[in-house]
Amino acid sequence: MTTYTTRMLILGSGPAGLSAAIYGARAGMKPILVQGIQPGGQLMTTTDVENYPGFADVIQGPWLMEQMQKQAEHVGTQLMYDTVVEVDLTQRPFRLIGDGGDVYEGDVLVIATGAQAKWLGLDSEDALKGKGVSACATCDGFFYRGKKVAVIGGGNTAVEEALYLTNHSPDVTLIHRRDSLRAERILQERLFAHKGVTVLWNKEVDQFVDGGGTAGLVAIDLIDTVTGEKSRLDTEGGFVAIGHHPATELFRGHLKLDEDHYIWTETGSTRTNVPGVFACGDVMDKVYRQAVTAAGTGCMAALDAERFLAEMEFELAEAAE
Ligand code: NAP
Repeated sequence: MTTYTTRMLILGSGPAGLSAAIYGARAGMKPILVQGIQPGGQLMTTTDVENYPGFADVIQGPWLMEQMQKQAEHVGTQLMYDTVVEVDLTQRPFRLIGDGGDVYEGDVLVIATGAQAKWLGLDSEDALKGKGVSACATCDGFFYRGKKVAVIGGGNTAVEEALYLTNHSPDVTLIHRRDSLRAERILQERLFAHKGVTVLWNKEVDQFVDGGGTAGLVAIDLIDTVTGEKSRLDTEGGFVAIGHHPATELFRGHLKLDEDHYIWTETGSTRTNVPGVFACGDVMDKVYRQAVTAAGTGCMAALDAERFLAEMEFELAEAAE
């Protein structure tokens, strides 16, 4: 059992955590970054990335994360492979405890544990992920330009994704399991007014249909939730937009979470309700959820953390005089 101590402790190794590490290291905070169960985060399971600025050609998600990791290490971040099972935020230094008993202590803590898209849990969905089935229209919609696409869900995300897809596709279908949407009224009005969108009410996905060979998704089989009637919708893109799980279980009871279990942060900053603890990336952002916005809030967290430490050190120096 070893105790590791640093000024800046970071939990999570997606674009948010690694960006916080790059800025934190360059500000002299000697970050220790604990990588968590899925090093690299959601981009490790993404293939083509075409929307991360700075790369004229299509890049691969895992390659991008490898580069960010190397960059964080080159500027002085210590990367640790561990799964944190317990936290103590009641006093500084804050403590994270790994499953093997190792302890990580930091004068400030940056939480970047991310979120996972919810899936329907169908075998056919699993088989066609990346071959027509996706959980992010903003990331993958462009690959379906000119094609028929469908979005599953009835919340803000589903409606925003359906509207976003109309930029690329002349024929967008929204599939919802009930007869009314959960999304905000203004989004609903925009959706219903759009000629390129059809809404299928009271429909659940029975299965995603594989065209065989290299075809990928060719249709979605549906079941009517009221009548039980079966139908088929021809489509080449199926976007599952039924919500996300922010990875906040570890912090329940230790930090303020919002009504959707995301870490609450002060508007316009990454400050949580515990001074010295900062949150960035998808664990606090349920609106944008992009690699570039995660990286942006990671940078904000490092700047907020650096200012916090500078203020603390200034106060200590004044008290000592
Ligand atoms: P959400 O509000 O939880 O909506 C999830 C939708 O998926 C619901 O319509 C739900 O149906 C449906 N659904 C859930 N499980 C399903 C299943 N197994 N099969 C079929 N449909 C299923 O999720 P969200 O839209 O991602 O939004 C999450 C939070 O982020 C919300 O607070 C939202 O307001 C916020 N958000 C805000 C913005 C913005 O401010 N621009 C953008 C995106 C998200 P039911 O309605 O039948 O339950």
